[in-house]
Amino acid sequence: MALLEARGIAKRFGGIAALGDVSLTIGDGEIYGLIGPNGAGKTTFFNCLTGLYRHDAGSFHLAGTLLDTASPDRVVKRGIARTFQNIRLFAGLSVLENVMVGRHARSQAGALGAVLRTRAFQAEEAAVRNRALELLGYVGLAARRDEPARSLSYGDQRRLEIARALATDPRLLALDEPAAGMNATETQVLRQLLERIRADGVTLLLIEHDVKLVMGLCDRLAVLDFGQLVVEGTPDIVRRDPAVIAAYLGAGTEEAA
Ligand code: ATP
Repeated sequence: MALLEARGIAKRFGGIAALGDVSLTIGDGEIYGLIGPNGAGKTTFFNCLTGLYRHDAGSFHLAGTLLDTASPDRVVKRGIARTFQNIRLFAGLSVLENVMVGRHARSQAGALGAVLRTRAFQAEEAAVRNRALELLGYVGLAARRDEPARSLSYGDQRRLEIARALATDPRLLALDEPAAGMNATETQVLRQLLERIRADGVTLLLIEHDVKLVMGLCDRLAVLDFGQLVVEGTPDIVRRDPAVIAAYLGAGTEEAA
């Protein structure tokens, strides 16, 4: 079954066609990679999907229903969460508070409840905190919970961003270059985490330049170049495609990947 279907997504910035008529389908439970050279349109695709940019044409369907991408908030409520290429954390807040912020996107008690500190608000706050602690354990950051987010290493900040995204209970988690800035050991830990997230029922869409990681991790990949989908398929199909080798992988990478 298709979880996400993008149909004819197009986005221009002045004279630049960042995306031209991109259609792709992501199956429920897949790990799906979006790759391509710098400026190919990958982040623009994420921004259209998650309501940060308004696409000029096309539509997204989530589990068969038209996705309202009018605002990031609406997209989160429908079950799509994301992380950013340039990590966006609240640097001065604690690690735990950063995840709680993500969880609040799902909570019910309104601003008045917060001001009056009603019983319902307090119960919900405790639940938010417990779930955030659980998620920190899940990504391996429980011991760092009281430290400010800014004190974490780059790799740990990326895992914290994943925990915050998971706090919104997504069906689809979109990760923009999750391995960027990570060393080989951190990348290995990340890979295991992503496999566990998928095993726990979340579909993954990732933009990633680490060819070895995407080829090893993804069930299928789409390659973008100049805003166009060049090829879509399994890692084996993609790594042998002459257009992909020319545009992105380069000679000699077939063996390396
Ligand atoms: P990278 O791998 O470097 O992150 P990318 O594949 O994610 O690249 P995009 O960031 O989506 O590429 O950019 C696609 C094209 O759209 C580029 O030419 C970029 O300069 C342009 N672009 C993206 N966002 C904007 C914007 N807000 N305003 C103007 N042009 C933009």
